[in-house]
Amino acid sequence: MILLDRVTKTYNKNHTALDRVSLHVEPKEFVIIVGKSGAGKSTLLKLLTCEERPNSGKIVVGGLDYDKLRDRDIPLLRRKIGVVFQDFKLLPNKNVFENVAFALEIVGYGTHEIKNTVPRVLDIVGLKGKEKSMPLELSGGERQRVAIARAIVRQPKILIADEPTGNLDPKHAWDVIKVLEKINRYGTTVILTTHNQDIVNKLKRRVITIDEGRISSDRANAKYHAEGTKQ
Ligand code: ADP
Repeated sequence: MILLDRVTKTYNKNHTALDRVSLHVEPKEFVIIVGKSGAGKSTLLKLLTCEERPNSGKIVVGGLDYDKLRDRDIPLLRRKIGVVFQDFKLLPNKNVFENVAFALEIVGYGTHEIKNTVPRVLDIVGLKGKEKSMPLELSGGERQRVAIARAIVRQPKILIADEPTGNLDPKHAWDVIKVLEKINRYGTTVILTTHNQDIVNKLKRRVITIDEGRISSDRANAKYHAEGTKQ
């Protein structure tokens, strides 16, 4: 469960990036966050991952109250939340298997467990057979699916996908979205930000619109138009 209660984030005195935002996301929901550039979407995601701290308001994610979070709780939070970004952030000198395995190595998984886990996750994202490929040998869509595999390999409860299709053509964008839907069907909460109107309209999921730091609408199965008006 994700709970935000009147959360405000100000980067500098004159500008409020998020203004008393309240939000409740149930486990296993698939939520799309839309809004113009500068609306506050990334700020919201950074608050969830604890990369930024709010000036006021309450954030509780999966039972963790962020007010009470100590430094040593941060790894616990990182386990709960997987993140993928528009620019993939893969390690260029490691192959597909190694990129995903790395997420396990750094938290102390053994070779045997890694050999068991990584192929399973690559299968989920449709990259079986690509284990030895280097990132540069892959299409953008495949790279993003490696990034998703890496984000879910420790089975987080929540997957945050920040503009994951921003650099992809429509076909590859849909491949990525289908993987997100599959992961959601397996029980992971998915928070997706996108500017792609076609994806928003076809997914028929809950759509939260942020406008100048405030939630201007929150609707199930909403249609969205690029200029921010809804039908
Ligand atoms: P979005 O993701 O919707 O494009 P952001 O959350 O990135 O919006 O930005 C919201 C507002 O906060 C914008 O006005 C942006 O300029 C400002 N902002 C974001 N990050 C910072 C930062 N690190 N320092 C100062 N201002 C920032």
